[in-house]
Amino acid sequence: MEKVLKIIVEKCPQNHKCPAIKVCPVGALSQEGFNAPKIDHQNR
Ligand code: SF4
Repeated sequence: MEKVLKIIVEKCPQNHKCPAIKVCPVGALSQEGFNAPKIDHQNR
């Protein structure tokens, strides 16, 4: 079964730099300021 990463914006306090950004090996995550991160599903 395919796994799909999903950001649940309501659960993200949006008050810190997302540590997942630098861990993603393909750079598919981005974050503006402390906003909830965004996923580029084309880039995985
Ligand atoms: S910033 Fe990233 S690690 Fe922190 S709560 Fe939001 S999604 Fe989770």
